[in-house]
Amino acid sequence: MTVAATKKCKKCGKELPLSDYGKKVSHNGVTYYNGKCKKCIAEQIHEYYEKHKNEIIENKHKYYKENNEKILEGKKVYYENNRSEILPIHRDYVYPSHIIKFNGGAYNQFNSNIGECY
Ligand SMILES: [Zn+2]
Repeated sequence: MTVAATKKCKKCGKELPLSDYGKKVSHNGVTYYNGKCKKCIAEQIHEYYEKHKNEIIENKHKYYKENNEKILEGKKVYYENNRSEILPIHRDYVYPSHIIKFNGGAYNQFNSNIGECY
């Protein structure tokens, strides 16, 4: 083992061990380290969030509001289109097939609750 390698952080300028940097290994095995240390990255994310907090929250709400109906509708359509495939899988997962065979009640109950499952 050689002396632990260090790297200078682009942001705080400190000479820090490589373990203080996030790393990525490419598909051919080359290791890349972030230019900024983990602490600076965390601060950066935090700062960004603090700065844009209202926008982020607002956008989330807006997206949800605008797409809520679309999302729900999409799920419904998907379910309707794939009903014959989804139902047996889901049914077997929630109720083992022998219960359905011997207990029609459980099956009917499950059917009436399916809206809540999706
Ligand atoms: Zn740093």
